[in-house]
Amino acid sequence: MNLPSRFPVPPGGTIGILGGGQLGRMLALAAAKVGVKSHIYSNAADAPAFDVATKCTFAEFDDQTSLAAFAGSVNAITFEFENVPSDTIAMLARAKPTHPGAHALAVTQDRLAEKKFLSRIGVATTEYAAFNPEESGELGQIVVPAVLKTRRFGYDGKGQWTIRNRADLETALARLKGAPAILERLVDFSFECSVIAARGRDGTFAAYDPPENTHGEHILRRSSVPAPLTRAQSEEAKAVTARIAEALAYVGVLAVEFFVTREGVLLVNEIAPRVHNSGHWTLEACLVSQFEQHVRAIAGWPLGDPARHSNAVMENLIGAEAEDWQTLARKSGALHLYGKNEIRAARKMGHITQISPLNDGNQRDGHPD
Ligand code: AMP
Repeated sequence: MNLPSRFPVPPGGTIGILGGGQLGRMLALAAAKVGVKSHIYSNAADAPAFDVATKCTFAEFDDQTSLAAFAGSVNAITFEFENVPSDTIAMLARAKPTHPGAHALAVTQDRLAEKKFLSRIGVATTEYAAFNPEESGELGQIVVPAVLKTRRFGYDGKGQWTIRNRADLETALARLKGAPAILERLVDFSFECSVIAARGRDGTFAAYDPPENTHGEHILRRSSVPAPLTRAQSEEAKAVTARIAEALAYVGVLAVEFFVTREGVLLVNEIAPRVHNSGHWTLEACLVSQFEQHVRAIAGWPLGDPARHSNAVMENLIGAEAEDWQTLARKSGALHLYGKNEIRAARKMGHITQISPLNDGNQRDGHPD
């Protein structure tokens, strides 16, 4: 018997997830934990999330017939990667509650629109300027060192180039192939961190403690919590994230990535409108993971407690590193393998998380102040 529910997704209901990578897979597993079914919609025949979902659709993101059937089969809709067309999200939102919404997605999938939005709401970023390859081919107009990034479709360092001299600019222009771009001043940061947080349908907000993130060749290698932030910096990072979520009328989990400069200033690098690789440690170190938190948020349920009961270090298994799974399985950490059927260089194949007890006394939350 289906009782009417005041929640968009009651227990036993179904969430629709656009995208079928490891984030969709971990969302589907978290949904199952709280009695919610999932329907994965992916344009990849071998999407890792298909293995763990209740229902699967293999179709393109502009296939109106498949999208309509998908919307008809679920109680609420979300996405696990930001390259879903925002028009698709706007269309689906007319059929079913869809979060995050088309506006939040459109702002965060364009690096220039995102930076302008952050400036408008008074959030500090590195200096930036729109870059039109037709007009801006001269190094003299650029303050180096800088980073040139495509406005759209960049991830894991794809579509971005560090510019220190004329040769770098020429290489970048050749690769850019005329795509609209943004130029950013290279930040001489001390380290990087991120805030993973959720905003509920009722506006409640819950943030996890920020991890320190280490990248190699632009790909996240490791997230370690607590980050070496003071309590004031950690609170500021969470407050900035709350301001961003509020201004976007955001519902669901988002990640805000920060540079921490050598002077201790926090600058936002980018916003991810979804669960995030730097939040995977929440699976083992918190009672409610980022994945369950996202399901709760879009389902209209109360948000879970984001408190951390352990310190954690999460390391990604990239490309051939996953071949060594037998050695990794002998380690004491929590091993996650994403079920991808082909190992490729720079491809995220899994991760492993180690936890350790929180420090006691006045360092309980890890802050040195
Ligand atoms: P993104 O795709 O913008 O998150 O960039 C990936 C990584 O490249 C970041 O996590 C940084 O390590 C580095 N990066 C990107 N933009 C800058 C910048 N303006 N200054 C310094 N490092 C950057």
